[in-house]
Amino acid sequence: MQECCFILLGATGDLALRKIFPALFKASQAGLKPTITACARSHLSTHEFLDKLSTKAKEHIKDLDSKAWAHFSTYINYTPLDFNKPEDFKALKANHPNTIIYFSIAPEFFAKACQNLAAVGLNAPNVKIVLEKPLGTNLQSCKDICAQISQHFQEAQIYRIDHYLGKQSVQNLFYLRHNNPFLAGLLGAHYLDHVQISVLETLGVESRGGFYDPMGALRDMLQNHMLAMLALSTIPANTPQENIRQAKLEMLKSLKPLGQEALKTEVVRGQYAAGGGFKGYTEEEQVNPHSQTETFVALKLELEHPNWQGVPFYLRTGKRMGVSLVQVVFVFKGPPQALIYTIQPQCSLELQLQGMGALKSALDSGMDAYERLILEVVAGNQAPFNHQNELEAAWSFVDPILQSWQTNLTPLLPYAATSYGPQAAFDLLKQDKREWFAHV
Ligand code: NAP
Repeated sequence: MQECCFILLGATGDLALRKIFPALFKASQAGLKPTITACARSHLSTHEFLDKLSTKAKEHIKDLDSKAWAHFSTYINYTPLDFNKPEDFKALKANHPNTIIYFSIAPEFFAKACQNLAAVGLNAPNVKIVLEKPLGTNLQSCKDICAQISQHFQEAQIYRIDHYLGKQSVQNLFYLRHNNPFLAGLLGAHYLDHVQISVLETLGVESRGGFYDPMGALRDMLQNHMLAMLALSTIPANTPQENIRQAKLEMLKSLKPLGQEALKTEVVRGQYAAGGGFKGYTEEEQVNPHSQTETFVALKLELEHPNWQGVPFYLRTGKRMGVSLVQVVFVFKGPPQALIYTIQPQCSLELQLQGMGALKSALDSGMDAYERLILEVVAGNQAPFNHQNELEAAWSFVDPILQSWQTNLTPLLPYAATSYGPQAAFDLLKQDKREWFAHV
C-alpha cells in the first residue's frame, strides 16, 4: 500500500465532491492509502462533512461498494479553514514525506493560500501542490499568478492540472506514434496534407453560465486542452518520457503568431442562438443577455517547426453542436486518405484506405483522468502536468486573438443550437479546397 498525506483545499466545492473524492476513492481501491485532510470555509464537523460527501458519492460513483466507502471515509478528517485567517493554517500538518496539497479553489485564492501555507512551513520540499485551472485569463494574468506561487514553491513541487492530460486517450496521441514507428513515419510533413482537431459538445453552458460567460470557448477549451492535444500530436515520436514537457513546450513555442490578416480571415467566432428545441446562449441562466462571449471558435494555424513545415492545422470547438465529438484527423496528401483518432464518444482509431472502406478498431479509454493524475502526483511524475512555460507559450498564441476580438476585428456569428457552427467555419476550409471530417 502506498501512503500519502493529502490536504484538499476547497473540499466542499463542486469539483472536489464530484471528481476529486471519487478519484481518491478509486485510487484507494487500487492500493493508495491517503490520510485526507478536507478543508473549506464552512464550519462543519468531520461527521457532517462525511454526510454531505457520501450523498454526493452515491450520485457520482457507479455501483458504489458501501463497505469500501465506509472504510475510505475513515481516512478523512475535516478542518474548517479560511484563506483570510492565516491562523487557521496552523491546524494543518505535513509530516509525511509524500504530502500533497490540492488547490480545488478559485485561482484568486492561490496567492493567499500559498502565503499562508509557507508561513506555517507547508512549502517544505516534501510538499507538492496541485493547481486547478484556469491559471489566468491571458498571458499577463497567467504570469502574475505563477510569479506569486513561485515566491513560495519551486517548479519541481508544482503540478498544474489540465484534466485532458490525464486521459490515456489523449496521452495516446503521443504513445500511438511513440510505440508504432511506422505510424510516426506517416504522421509528419512528408505525407500529411493537413490535421484537424475538433472538440464538439452537444451540451450548452448548463448551470455554469456564471463561470463560462467571462471565459468563452477560446479560453475554456482551445488555449489549454486543444493546444495540449496539438502538442502531444506533434512532438517527435521518439521523445523520452522525461523530455515530454520540454518537447511540448518547443511545439507550443513554434506556433506561428497570427498576423492581422490571419486574425481577420482565419479565425471564426460564434455564439449559439436558439435552435433544435434549445434556447440561445444569451437566454441561459447567469449569462449576460447582451453577452458577446463566444461559444464556438474555429481557426487555422501553422507550426514553424521543421517536422511540420507546410502542414496547416484546423481547430474547432463549440457548445450546443449537433454531435459530441473529440477527434484528431490526420489527412494525407494521397492514399491512405486519413487516420482518424477519436477520443469521444468512444476511443477508436480508423484508417481510411483508398478503395477499401475503413479499418476501425475500438480502444479502451481506461482509467478516470483525475484518478490517473492523482496517482501521477503521488509518484512524482510531472510529465502529464503543465510547466509554467507551456502555459505562457499557449497564452502568447491566444492573446492576439483575444485582443483582436476586443476591437471587433472578426464578427461574433450566430449559429443555431444543434448545428455545426457558423457557415464561416466551413468556408475556412473551403477556401483551401478542404472540408471538415465528421466521424462519430
Ligand atoms: P466551488 O464549488 O465554488 O467551491 C469553492 C470551494 O472553495 C468551496 O469548498 C469553498 O468553501 C472554498 N472557499 C471559498 N472561499 C474560501 C475561503 N475564503 N477560505 C477557504 N475556502 C474557501 O468551486 P469548484 O467548482 O469546486 O471549482 C474549484 C476550482 O476548480 C476553480 O478554480 C474552478 O475554476 C476549477 N475547476 C472546476 C471545475 C468544475 O467542474 N467544477 C472543472 C475544472 C476546474 P465553502 O463552500 O465552505 O465556502
